[in-house]
Amino acid sequence: MRRPVIAGNWKMHKTIAETSAFVARLRERVANVNHCDIVVAPPFTALRAAAEAARGSNLRIAGQDVHWEPNGAHTGDISAGMLMEAGATAVIIGHSERRRDHGETDEMINRKLKAALAAGLTPIVCVGETLEERESGRTQEVLSRQFEGGFAGLTPWEFSRIMMAYEPVWAIGTGRTATPEMAAESHTYLRELSRRRFGEAEAERLRILYGGSVKPDNIAGLMREVQIDGALVGGASLDLESFVAIVQYPPLVAAGRVG
Ligand code: PEP
Repeated sequence: MRRPVIAGNWKMHKTIAETSAFVARLRERVANVNHCDIVVAPPFTALRAAAEAARGSNLRIAGQDVHWEPNGAHTGDISAGMLMEAGATAVIIGHSERRRDHGETDEMINRKLKAALAAGLTPIVCVGETLEERESGRTQEVLSRQFEGGFAGLTPWEFSRIMMAYEPVWAIGTGRTATPEMAAESHTYLRELSRRRFGEAEAERLRILYGGSVKPDNIAGLMREVQIDGALVGGASLDLESFVAIVQYPPLVAAGRVG
């Protein structure tokens, strides 16, 4: 049975002081949660504060991006080693906002992924189609291209260390969530691609999160789908009450999933 993951992507929100206060309260509120892993991804500047506030708790801290080089002339970038030093143990890679704002290609994402793995970080790799791609019936073609490019050259062992996030671009920050059935269909397809490339065991082990306007009132429906192993939450992770409510999605749903 795959252990669910609820991850909060704070994007460009929260100062160091806000991060310390939020994480200190969050760790208390979720101290008894054992049905899922909980990840928080603050901006780079607040990583250390988050890691310090989370020390000894059941929270994991993640970066929001990583460069593939260990150091060098890459203004504004950050390396895997730097993320680790700041206290991150995971990193989001290939978020659609980075693909859009920074022209990230599948090849760049593949290099970032390999650098993260080499450093010992858990990559959370995002894939997903735009509205135009969905409406023209190209969702699977896009997912397949992102999968083949993003995961090129990985061994099954390396693949076993990643998490994937299916994030339809049209659902991010729009309030428009994919229905659980739509999300599950794409998750099933991604697992099938994983099976073909890395084998049955790795495909079954892979945790695929759904991302795109996840809120307290839609998390249960999503988590009822056996193909959905958790959520990558943007806007709703910025508010303590809503993030806690998402983490504590109805225990009956959780109980049905954790073996
Ligand atoms: C995200 O940033 O990955 C995301 C899914 O955002 P939101 O939940 O706000 O749609």
